[in-house]
Amino acid sequence: MKTPSEYKTFVSHLECAYTGERFEADKIHGLSSAGKPIIVKYDLQALGKHIDKGTIERRTGGFWKYSEFLPVRSAENIVRLGEEMTPIIRLADQDAGGGELLIKDEGRLPTGSFKARGLALAVAMAKELGLKRLAMPTNGNAGAAMAAYASRAGLQTTIFCPDDTPEINVSEIALQGGDVYRVNGLINDCGKIVGEGKEAVGWFDVSTLKEPYRIEGKKTMGLELAEQLGWQLPDVIFYPTGGGTGLIGMWKAFDELEAIGWIGSKRPKMVAVQATGCAPIVKAWEDGAEHAPLWEDAHTVAAGIRVPVAVGDFMILRAVRQSKGFAIAVEDEAIMQAQRHVAQTEGVLLCPEGAATYAAYRQALKDGRVSGADQVVLYNCATGLKYPMAPVSQSLDRHQPIDYSRL
Ligand SMILES: *Cc1c(COP(=O)(O)O)cnc(C)c1O
Repeated sequence: MKTPSEYKTFVSHLECAYTGERFEADKIHGLSSAGKPIIVKYDLQALGKHIDKGTIERRTGGFWKYSEFLPVRSAENIVRLGEEMTPIIRLADQDAGGGELLIKDEGRLPTGSFKARGLALAVAMAKELGLKRLAMPTNGNAGAAMAAYASRAGLQTTIFCPDDTPEINVSEIALQGGDVYRVNGLINDCGKIVGEGKEAVGWFDVSTLKEPYRIEGKKTMGLELAEQLGWQLPDVIFYPTGGGTGLIGMWKAFDELEAIGWIGSKRPKMVAVQATGCAPIVKAWEDGAEHAPLWEDAHTVAAGIRVPVAVGDFMILRAVRQSKGFAIAVEDEAIMQAQRHVAQTEGVLLCPEGAATYAAYRQALKDGRVSGADQVVLYNCATGLKYPMAPVSQSLDRHQPIDYSRL
């Protein structure tokens, strides 16, 4: 496989997503002086002239094939772990109405979750900018993705997770070379440790939206979805929302695609799905607020969306409102029931966060916020295999007579 050592990139500058303050490309950036996320801007006119849809469609290599839409300058800084376009699975069980219910199964990416997209980009840019030590708070999947890509790139990682993070996540982080600590608190408490220690230790803070590049990786979900659906966007997207990078990233992708004329102005309704035990974005959306205050006593089985406070809250809420979508919370019981239902009837083992989108879809269909005629995409952001499952107690003693009539 041949890859060019110099990528053509069209980054023009970076910008504070809140104030518009400008920043130079090819420099190390964290949050803006207003304490808000910084996003990457491209010369889209030049990008649109340089590349066409057909060229993109003919490429392989998963999300790395969108290199012109990405900020990496040198291919040497890229780690490839066998990224592939993730499949879109059409569910059989849908209400009559002529619509389509689709699952974008992100569990097929390296390390089993879509966190690979964001962290692959963050790690490549960290390497390009000469950083050596990365740190982050995580509910599990982001830590695993960072450890895998960074260890391969020769960068050190220190990772903090809530002490009730699924065992498998903590173990995989350690096995992939991350220095991982359990912390008696939630992800925002872990984030505080990174923030307070970074000067002293010399860490670069890779927290969600506290550096500009994870979102560029997550943006590829939007590019990929558009390509797979023939450059037509669906009617509705249900996204399990924690820090919200994926939702914001897809929204950015759609704007960039429209700017180069690859799609029209039609946008899907963006639906932010949270759990009732941790629903700051849903509350802010219902209150008509621009920001989402910290959610106290956050709890849910869907660990990936247990994020009590998000630095990109205003960006999530903006995208949801501009798209005429909505934010919706589902009970843990509905999440677990959705997971069982889809596993037993559709052959797809969703992660709890993915199951939350299915439960939210059912709820929204019932209350009329989506229609059976809609083409709907649910994001399953990790493989269900990474999560604890209900134990099985049935056994058979092969040395005793077996009563086959009971099986
Ligand atoms: C991180 C994560 C989410 C939330 O993603 P954001 O883009 O940070 O909102 C959802 N599901 C899973 C499985 C995750 O790991």
